[in-house]
Amino acid sequence: MTTLINQAETHLESYFKQLEETSYANTEKVLTAFANQGLSDEHFFSVTGYGHNDMGREVTDNIYAQVFGAEAALVRLQFVSGTHAIACALRGCLQPGDMLLSVAGRPYDTLEEVIGTREEVSPASLVGQGIQYQEVNLLDEVGIKPEWSDAEQNAVKAAHVIFIQRSRGYSLRPSLMLSDIETLIQRLRVISPGVKIVVDNCYGEFIETREPTQVGADLIAGSLIKNPGGGIVPTGGYIAGKSELVERAAEFLTAPGIGADGGYTFNATRTILQGLYFAPTVVKDALKSMRLFATVFTSLGYAVRPTIEQPQADIIQVLELGSEEKVLAFCKTLQSFSPVGARLTPIPAVTPGYADPVVMAGGTFIFGSTIELSADAPMRAPYAVYLQGGLTYAHSRVVLKKMLETGLS
Ligand SMILES: *Cc1c(COP(=O)(O)O)cnc(C)c1O
Repeated sequence: MTTLINQAETHLESYFKQLEETSYANTEKVLTAFANQGLSDEHFFSVTGYGHNDMGREVTDNIYAQVFGAEAALVRLQFVSGTHAIACALRGCLQPGDMLLSVAGRPYDTLEEVIGTREEVSPASLVGQGIQYQEVNLLDEVGIKPEWSDAEQNAVKAAHVIFIQRSRGYSLRPSLMLSDIETLIQRLRVISPGVKIVVDNCYGEFIETREPTQVGADLIAGSLIKNPGGGIVPTGGYIAGKSELVERAAEFLTAPGIGADGGYTFNATRTILQGLYFAPTVVKDALKSMRLFATVFTSLGYAVRPTIEQPQADIIQVLELGSEEKVLAFCKTLQSFSPVGARLTPIPAVTPGYADPVVMAGGTFIFGSTIELSADAPMRAPYAVYLQGGLTYAHSRVVLKKMLETGLS
């Protein structure tokens, strides 16, 4: 059974080498930022109460800003999740009456309530606050559409803020590579030079050696329990981009007059920065893990997305297993070889926001962390498993070996 894995690894040798190279470049970027921003021991102490003049918080913001090639950043445990960071980023850029336009199709499920596109619109949502919202899809199944219709171009002209989701989430279009984001932003700026562009950067950090803020995005946001937390940060999110917009977003997280200048850091500054230090290596191991699964499942005859010829633009791998039994067997084995909760058996359950029951597997150290090896699958055809993460390649390889030994049904 390990021969399939060995064959795949031989086949992947030069690709894995390429992933190593990216992780070296990103590690250099992180270490350079630590040095330039003068990180030292005294930054690891937190200031209680208001948290005024917390040097660690300030240096963390500056390090993130440098790593993302941005003017400013806001890295906070007070962000409950990626969704919360994205919500503050969007709210900070928009005034009542403004138009928000999503150009990469329908945003991630959790953003529907933030924007206010669900049936019951919260008065605190963007739409509830008098912001207008429109969706056009400037992408198709292969990438950016070569031509945009007049209606699509007019929608771009009418927008104050344009929202781009880097990862595909649960949609079928491919996740965006940095070169795609660069082209997309350049074409948008030809139509509307002054429009503000916000990118949902979730799952995309450190996949390549550039980030959306380095190819023209005004603001990006993401989660610390995904890529940039390196698997060890217990909670939080970040925003990076133009100083003025980061400051507005900070005022929505805290309050006008406080902005980025307050907030306790819970003695976690060291963990946040150590997570960033690990992140390029962890993302590399996650990418290697996903490509190993994709290669072995392809050789077994399953359809996978991205295919093994396509680039990896995020840390998600879709495996179409074709039957409920196989999905459950896959999740069961993944769970039994997870570090935490190995004795649990994943079963499908009705989940708010999803039409079909969803099965989820992943005994992670940080609850809900999707940079750790985990999988979820909606119980409907084509019975596709969304596999993601992997803190260490070794762990992912053990799980795959066990799956091959026990079979999928
Ligand atoms: C994870 C994710 C989010 C935010 O989700 P949280 O669970 O709130 O962190 C937003 N967009 C995409 C594409 C994501 O993958």
